[in-house]
Amino acid sequence: MRALVYHGPGRISWDTVADPVIEDPGDAVVRVGTTTVCGTDLHILRGDLAEVTAGTVLGHEAVGEVVATGDDVRRLHPGNRVVVSSVSACGRCRPCRDRLFGQCRGGGGWILGHLIHGTQAEYVRVPFADDSTHRLPFSPSPDEAVLLAEVLPTAYEVGVRNGEVGPGDTVVVVGAGPVGLATVAIARLCSPRRIVAVDLSTARLEAAVRMGADAAEVPGRMIAELYEGPGADVVVEASGEPDGFVLCTRAVRTGGHIAVIGTPGRSTTLHLESLWRKNVTISTGQVDTSSTPWLMELLRLGRLQVSPLLTHSFELERAVEAYEVFSKGTESGALKVALRQR
Ligand SMILES: [Zn+2]
Ligand SMILES: [Zn+2]
Repeated sequence: MRALVYHGPGRISWDTVADPVIEDPGDAVVRVGTTTVCGTDLHILRGDLAEVTAGTVLGHEAVGEVVATGDDVRRLHPGNRVVVSSVSACGRCRPCRDRLFGQCRGGGGWILGHLIHGTQAEYVRVPFADDSTHRLPFSPSPDEAVLLAEVLPTAYEVGVRNGEVGPGDTVVVVGAGPVGLATVAIARLCSPRRIVAVDLSTARLEAAVRMGADAAEVPGRMIAELYEGPGADVVVEASGEPDGFVLCTRAVRTGGHIAVIGTPGRSTTLHLESLWRKNVTISTGQVDTSSTPWLMELLRLGRLQVSPLLTHSFELERAVEAYEVFSKGTESGALKVALRQR
């Protein structure tokens, strides 16, 4: 088959590789219909994740069709349409029993396109397939459904739920990339008083308004007003930038929450000298994707509108080009890039 292969820092190519096969009785092989590129893939490409070895097929989000299952797979059959979750779950270890699939100690967690071959390929082997995929009982656009693999659960679990967004809250989202924008849309469902999005890109600020933000601005006046005024109840850090985190610590109110979603590529300063008396709660986390069925239902009911996130689509074999467009998201206006196989 053909796949997007990582060859070390700065090097990816569209190569011919061995077809995936069932290696363990819990595996399924899925023909990828739609996959996408994540900011974490760009971190890998920059060499930030040393554990990713040359020769790995990248990608950890997909929608596709099951083509083969191992003998122990019970819930899936060839022909089923599924979301392949970015997090695999053995379903048996202690964290999995607590639905903390991102912390799986039984060989799961984030492994696709990281420790084993991933989804930016014609086919992908999915370990622990029963607990690591979700049947699609309806037909949303596959491009929207691929957001269920990671973007939407991350925005909900790590941003909205960990940040404890509630009715009447003022919510600030710093960083209006795909996950930040999804956070805006999901926070909207919690009846907040006001949602403010902050980013440096005009295109992303416009997208934030389309996703339901009441205000969207470059860092400046609004943050200063929050800093000098009562502050925000919940601030979500979705930029992954050290400066973004510092901004969050300025915007949060006394007793408020800072929910960190962004993957920091560099070390970040925690200004305890000014934070210590603010009684703030800071949460971090790896997504568990335990909320995917609930989010799928919101999509099915039309309660969650995510189409503004889908800005670009490419044929799967143009994956290298998709990386280029996605990596220049600030200029290209690219948010989520769909890679489709006919
Ligand atoms: Zn990702
Ligand atoms: Zn587990």
